[in-house]
Amino acid sequence: MTKYIYAFDEGKKAMKDLLGGKGANLAEMKRLGLPVPDGFTLTTQACIEYLNHGSKLSEEVMESLHEQLEAFSKRTKKSFSSEEALLLVSVRSGAKISMPGMMDTILNLGLNDNNVKILAEKTNDERFAYDCYRRLLQMFGEVVYDIPMALFDTYFNQYKSRYHYQNDADIPAEGLREICEYYKNVYLEEAYKPFPQEPIVQLTEAIEAVFKSWDNDRARVYRQLNEIPYGIGTAVNIQEMVFGNSGNQSGTGVAFTRNPVTGEAKLFGEYLLNAQGEDVVAGIRTPKNIETLKVQMPHVHQQFLKVAQQLEMHYKDMQDIEFTIENEQLYILQTRNGKRTANAAIHIAVDLVEEGIISKKEAVMNVEVKSIDQLLHPNFDDNALEAATIISKMGLPASPGAASGQIVFSAETAKLKAEQGAHVILMRPETSPEDIEGMIASKAIVTTHGGMTSHAAVVARGMGKCCVTGCSDIEINIIDKKVTYPNGTLNEGDIISVDGAKGDIYLDEVKTTKAERSKDFETFMQWSEEVARLDVRMNAETPQDIQAGYQFGAKGIGLVRTEHMFFGAERLIEMRRFILSYTQENRINALNKIKQYQKEDFETILKLSGERPTIIRLLDPPLHEFLPKSTEEKHSVARQLNVSFSELEHYIASLNEVNPMLGHRGCRLAITYPELYIMQAEAIVESALKLKQQGIDCQPEIMIPLVSSVSEFTTLKAQIIDKIERLEIEMDESAHYLLGTMIETPRACLIAEDLAKECDFFSFGTNDLTQLTFGFSRDDAGKFINAYSEQGILDIDPFQTLDLEGVGQLIQRTTEQAKSVNPTIKIGVCGELGGDHRSIQYFNQLELDYVSCSPFRVPGALLSTAQSEVKGGRLRVQ
Ligand code: PEP
Ligand code: MG
Repeated sequence: MTKYIYAFDEGKKAMKDLLGGKGANLAEMKRLGLPVPDGFTLTTQACIEYLNHGSKLSEEVMESLHEQLEAFSKRTKKSFSSEEALLLVSVRSGAKISMPGMMDTILNLGLNDNNVKILAEKTNDERFAYDCYRRLLQMFGEVVYDIPMALFDTYFNQYKSRYHYQNDADIPAEGLREICEYYKNVYLEEAYKPFPQEPIVQLTEAIEAVFKSWDNDRARVYRQLNEIPYGIGTAVNIQEMVFGNSGNQSGTGVAFTRNPVTGEAKLFGEYLLNAQGEDVVAGIRTPKNIETLKVQMPHVHQQFLKVAQQLEMHYKDMQDIEFTIENEQLYILQTRNGKRTANAAIHIAVDLVEEGIISKKEAVMNVEVKSIDQLLHPNFDDNALEAATIISKMGLPASPGAASGQIVFSAETAKLKAEQGAHVILMRPETSPEDIEGMIASKAIVTTHGGMTSHAAVVARGMGKCCVTGCSDIEINIIDKKVTYPNGTLNEGDIISVDGAKGDIYLDEVKTTKAERSKDFETFMQWSEEVARLDVRMNAETPQDIQAGYQFGAKGIGLVRTEHMFFGAERLIEMRRFILSYTQENRINALNKIKQYQKEDFETILKLSGERPTIIRLLDPPLHEFLPKSTEEKHSVARQLNVSFSELEHYIASLNEVNPMLGHRGCRLAITYPELYIMQAEAIVESALKLKQQGIDCQPEIMIPLVSSVSEFTTLKAQIIDKIERLEIEMDESAHYLLGTMIETPRACLIAEDLAKECDFFSFGTNDLTQLTFGFSRDDAGKFINAYSEQGILDIDPFQTLDLEGVGQLIQRTTEQAKSVNPTIKIGVCGELGGDHRSIQYFNQLELDYVSCSPFRVPGALLSTAQSEVKGGRLRVQ
């Protein structure tokens, strides 16, 4: 029989797949003897079966639930119906991968009209009992019956202002009782049914609601953003309640064992006295720094420090711990590896190695590739900041980055405006999970309430998005769409700048500077390099990009796209002269001019690369891309080339192609105009020989694009080699160079064995290879790919992540065949997938030699190569 429910003491941390992260860690903490309230976990399997089978808990699960409850009652010596020892529980979701704020929580479950009185009597605190009941009514109403939380909140706030209560805690027992009565009526009006009084009904409905919430919109969006598969489901944890809201000797909080923003090795946390869990995370009241607990409850603080240290040592990573204090008694409600900024991630990983807690390989696994990408975020220019007008300086630096954009006040507007191409800043008093899509669409998020662990802060950090929370010196009015700051007001659409690293907000756009990387970053990247096997090269052609790529640790250049070098006005006209020449003689004359430009460029590139390999690809795009489009431009080109306008138009029309991507491009250009590639190869080798004379032994690799037959390659190879040999004789110097091809067509894959005998290297151009394998236009696939993913036809965009079944199979087959006939052949990837972490895992397993990507993706790719090496696994390559 399948086991659907595990008591906490039956689980352990390795059981995350089944018990979810929260359940597995609660079980583990119990095993460690920490003060964890007792409970049990319904498995992720129960969730998936529930969702797949008509959304009803099966008889088997219900039977097991009754058994577990009985055993639980025995262990806790409490029950839902006991006047002596009343059992109340929390119900919380917990997937294998933490999804903060995405799923729902219900506290105080088990209370009803009768039990609230028992609780009041037992605790001798009627106010507390009704406070628990009104919270249950709110949470249950929202999570289980979809009643908008605003209906409860609005009444609650109106009630407070009617009687001039400043804080929630000022409302007396009879007030809370009245509020509960009102809430119960809300059920009748909104859900057309009463709040269920039977605790077992409450429990069953709550479990079902959590399972259902796995499939709600915001969970779906979060999963998509974080590449979390649907099929893993969520577990549900049922846990005995402990009360942080039972007076001023009680409280609740969240703490990180190290600072999640800077990575500093010091406990970092917040708590609220006389409050329940959600109060801290929701950011409605501004919490106190955990340091203050040292003064308010020294022994609890001391005990918590010990627990925090123990958990960090045990999990070998920074922990994010939720705790509750009930009458000065500490309880731990959750631990997990804490979300952190990219800087903090690196800092913590380096510190943990230096403290001897983890190895370099473990450190490499502790940092997400996404974090590395975030480190390449911009900052504001110091001088521009000094001149800028500050409008808020009380905010908290919740998530670093610098962003400017138009103010918007709702997630919907954020999404809408972003879709129209605007940069937007989402401003809200606080955010909630409903805002997730708006947060994704925004460049930055600003809130007036909430601390460093508020929803906005946690989610933005996870996304690597600039965020400032708790700006108490401004007022955000989402109804009138206005922001009031000390010296004025702002309206929707006004531009502001947000400094996520300092927590400041400025008027208008402020200039940004490139990101600076710390010494820890260099150390960490060095370790990644030590661990990795697969090399990372860059796709670049400008000196700035090449320098950046080498600073980021690239081992060479995997792709110089020579066409990018023709776009300056002076070069473009020569290219146009070449394309628009009727005779070979005229073409050669035009090419002689172009060759000078190419030589200058190649010399610069090869010099920057030194002895590192540099793949230069010969011209690839369809020629009409270089031709003038507007009438005005055409007139100017006709004048420059000394031809009539109509002649020019006629010629341009003759070059027009129905399917340019399948047309006269790639090596086909040199089959028709051999002088083109000969000139480029000559320019490469002349530059290399010139540098050789200066003592720089550079390693150019000449690459022919879009090959689909062996004879296509051998024809061009013969012409290129002939030219180079003559050049070597002329210059009395031998050149080091390799000659290879891109693998971009399915046919090239199929003939890999024969092609490999002729090539020094292969480089998979996965952009074209994906396009031609699927028959999806790489320029237009955006129009339908979303529909494919929404309907579950494709679970990835194959232009962003390798399609293992099809394109992956071609790559594997090609690699195996090529190596079987030419064991020294070098094989790499230079399409977009060369920078994608999931694809890199596969390329590493295939034992390719390198991946190549744009310079700013190099550090992330480097970490991906290191992580895939630690994960291990090889696909058989002969
Ligand atoms: C490719 O096709 O993957 C490639 C790198 O070439 P381009 O994107 O320039 O066509
Ligand atoms: Mg290509």
